[in-house]
Amino acid sequence: MRLLLVEDDLMIGQVLAQLLARAHYVVDWAKDGIEADTALCTTDYDLVLLDLGLPRMDGLEVLRRLRAKGKATPVIVATARDAVSDRIAGLDAGADDYVLKPFDFEELLARLRAVRRRMTDSAQPGYRHGEVWLDVQTRKAQLAGREVMLSAREWAVLEPLLLRPGQVLSRAQLEEKLYGWGEEINSNAVEVYIHGIRRKLGSSIIQNVRGLGYRVPADEGEK
Ligand code: CA
Repeated sequence: MRLLLVEDDLMIGQVLAQLLARAHYVVDWAKDGIEADTALCTTDYDLVLLDLGLPRMDGLEVLRRLRAKGKATPVIVATARDAVSDRIAGLDAGADDYVLKPFDFEELLARLRAVRRRMTDSAQPGYRHGEVWLDVQTRKAQLAGREVMLSAREWAVLEPLLLRPGQVLSRAQLEEKLYGWGEEINSNAVEVYIHGIRRKLGSSIIQNVRGLGYRVPADEGEK
């Protein structure tokens, strides 16, 4: 899951970026509103964690511009504990949820997971596909009830495909899920991780769609 963190406080931002990376999000960190707006125009994020009080363009404006473009990217706004009016304004501007500052990190991670579940229209805490089960909270995978170890990168490739079975994602779209800003992209990385996933979970879990990319087949094991 690629996440855009928007936070102008350097100390808070650094702690959050580390925490989110440890929770296996691929994190880009924008430190003001213009930077956030630009990032949202150029990259397809799975989640946005948005501070409202920002230099150059405030968070509400960033959110309004995102929604004005018709993008449904899930957004969680971060507001001060006593700023009820900010939370209302955020939700009215199209936020999906909010978290209170100072952050309770466990709660933040739980809210991110909850937003992901709503994206998939699923009450389940993970993804099921045929005999494969991915538990999002524990980051453990199973094949026919037997635990299988997936690397963080393999997980990062498989999760967006499982999110929408049947939908094709190109290699470039999958690379976007694998790498944050400034990371060097290894040209055959996606193929390498897909090879690893198939070896561990069976070759039918991911299909090649010639000339277009990859998909998880839609026709089996749907909730
Ligand atoms: Ca701020």
